[in-house]
Amino acid sequence: MTSESGGPRCDRGAGDAAGHPAPRENDPLRRFAGIWCRAVHPLAATKMTPDEFEGYLLPLAHRLSAALCSSPFDTEAAYEVGAALVDAQCTEPDALPAILGVIDAHLVSCSSPGAPFSRPSGESFPGPSDEPAHEPLADEEARARCVRLQHALAAGFVRELRERERDEQEAISRAAMAARTEAEKALHASEAKFQAVFEGAVIGVGIAGLDGEVLVVNDAMARMFGGMDFFRPGRKVTEFVHPDDVPGAHELYRELVNGERDHFRIEKPHYRDDGSELWTNLTVTLLRDSSGAPQYQLALAEDITEHRQLRERLRYEATHDELTGLPNRTLFLERLDQVLAADADAERFGVCYLDLDGFKAVNDSLGHVVGDGMLKAVAERLQRCVKPAELLARVGGDEFLALVTGPAAQADGAGLARRMLAALAEPVRIEGRELRVRASIGVVDGRAGEIGRAEVLRSADITMYRAKAAGGNRFEIADADSNARVIARHSLTNGLPSALEKGEFFIEYQPLVRLTDGTVRGAEALVRWLHPLHGVLGPDQFIPLAEDTGLIVPLGRWVLEQAARQARKWRDAAEDDESLRVNVNLSPCQLSHPTLVSDTVAVLENAGLCPSALCLEVTENDLIGADETALRPLRQLADLGVDIALDDFGTGYSNLSYLRRLPVSQLKLDRSFTRGMQRAPADPVDVKIVEGIVSLAHTLDLAVTVEGVETAVQAEHLRGLGCDTAQGWYYARPGPPERLHTLALADAS
Ligand code: C2E
Ligand code: CA
Ligand code: CA
Repeated sequence: MTSESGGPRCDRGAGDAAGHPAPRENDPLRRFAGIWCRAVHPLAATKMTPDEFEGYLLPLAHRLSAALCSSPFDTEAAYEVGAALVDAQCTEPDALPAILGVIDAHLVSCSSPGAPFSRPSGESFPGPSDEPAHEPLADEEARARCVRLQHALAAGFVRELRERERDEQEAISRAAMAARTEAEKALHASEAKFQAVFEGAVIGVGIAGLDGEVLVVNDAMARMFGGMDFFRPGRKVTEFVHPDDVPGAHELYRELVNGERDHFRIEKPHYRDDGSELWTNLTVTLLRDSSGAPQYQLALAEDITEHRQLRERLRYEATHDELTGLPNRTLFLERLDQVLAADADAERFGVCYLDLDGFKAVNDSLGHVVGDGMLKAVAERLQRCVKPAELLARVGGDEFLALVTGPAAQADGAGLARRMLAALAEPVRIEGRELRVRASIGVVDGRAGEIGRAEVLRSADITMYRAKAAGGNRFEIADADSNARVIARHSLTNGLPSALEKGEFFIEYQPLVRLTDGTVRGAEALVRWLHPLHGVLGPDQFIPLAEDTGLIVPLGRWVLEQAARQARKWRDAAEDDESLRVNVNLSPCQLSHPTLVSDTVAVLENAGLCPSALCLEVTENDLIGADETALRPLRQLADLGVDIALDDFGTGYSNLSYLRRLPVSQLKLDRSFTRGMQRAPADPVDVKIVEGIVSLAHTLDLAVTVEGVETAVQAEHLRGLGCDTAQGWYYARPGPPERLHTLALADAS
């Protein structure tokens, strides 16, 4: 804002320079200010409202008017008014002409009370009545002064405008200066920081050209590699190859220096100058110039040698067996998975699963120290016969797995198994003892990609058990059929316990026919399993399993109950308490079961059946070697009146003199003796044997039943030989109990 200038004024008191307009309506300068405002306000960038703007202009109008009348004439005030108008933002391009136009048209008339005011309404515009009188200016003089005032105002206006622009530019350049200084400070700080990082970093930092030449490395990097000498001039990073570099490391590097990637990160081994190994966690970043072209490579390396050694030790411990130092199951499975996943067509493999025979006995009788010694000795022997490319692992207490791979000729599992057994042939010496080592081996041969890990292991396991079942100290080779049998057996065993609860068993009855008159004497109860998956299974398929698992005891009791109840029904239906009897098979487990006698008595009582209606069949083999204690339950039952039959007679060691001591009342002659009589002429030897047995049996007061009678010829022959009872397809196959009744009725008629 311009300062108020001194100098004489012709209109004092109309307002003050501080911007307080004169209050009177009829003030001609107020009118001037109004006109001025209307002309200029639209062209001003001011934030003032028109009223405010008019209030701002009024003192300026007074100053101009005063200057016009001043004596001596002075244009300084106009100069300052020009500046004041710039201050009020009247800086638009058309503003100055508008300002000057109003002055030119109205200043003289509004300032000189004596001069006529031209007003559109034609009214005269009287001057302020309290204004002191001053010398009216001559018209010409007034106009000339007005023009000069306009010039001065324009000059002040322009100068102020320029100063303003200069101030603004200065502010801008001052800001730019300040910014540059800040930027320089920051740059300096970051360079210092970079230097600090570079020098003081615990991490190795190095910069190399795109040709691989090492340009600079920091202390940490030099220390890592055993001194600055390592990075002697001319050394290129491309020389730092190592056999254990990750595959593809070279490709990553090539892409980086070609600008195809910005960085890569790998775990990289190096040899120091002294030959020792250094492992680094290496990050290489491409540095580009300002145009984006690749310029340098920056390497950040972290020494992870110790970390890696620790990791390797932990991994070794996790993948090796402590006792023998051999690889353990984890490592073996890793290698096996790799081999099985290989897609090389020619790649074959062989797996040998070795389990020591009777190792538990060694451990139990000679102690763990000897047991451990034996395992170590076995591991050493086996290791010696395994070739470097083959893998031997200890996978359990006394279990070892070996893996051979390669083209057909080399991947010979059986060959390896043979070598392993040969290696164990000589006894081992432990703590002064000579110990024989025996082992069973299951061998699985196959082709990569054709079989899964689980199947290989299961097959090896099954086959090893086959070798054990065959007497041990041998190897067996896996084959699908044997595996299938074992697996089926296994799955049946699993389903067996719940089958009884679920009512999956049922009984068929096969008639026993009196040979003299062809009448049905009774029937043998033969159990079947209606398996939900496999359909009807015969007893040969599950009785051995039931015996192994002990389920035979409840199952046998169930059969006995069912059969006794059935016999009761037959007898009721036949209205003849003597006619029909039922035969039930007993397993050796049941024979030795403490509640056999009491259970049987209870079953008979519950069914309301007399003991003589029941015949228990026991095989000859089950009784061989049985002493009097073992025979006691049978004798008790026999004493009660239950018939005991010696089943499958002739298949065991038939010590005939022994027969006398047994509490049996019947012999069931095995099918093998009667097969030779199915067709005429009968096998004379068979005839002689059967004749001899029958006569012996009758001498001992035993009745004879023949099994497996399939033809009329057979039946006739056996009747001629004096057999008492017959059973076989010729009469009837095993079937539902109802059928027996119709057979019996048919006989009777
Ligand atoms: P087993 O006691 O010798 O029973 C006779 C077997 O010979 C039955 O076989 C029967 O179907 C079959 N058979 C009968 N007539 C002929 C014939 O003319 N020709 C031929 N080739 N075979 C004939 P199955 O039913 O398969 O029973 C097999 C064995 O299962 C039985 O032999 C018996 O030892 C055992 N078994 C059956 N049921 C039970 C039971 O409830 N408990 C026990 N512990 N064993 C049972
Ligand atoms: Ca039988
Ligand atoms: Ca039999």
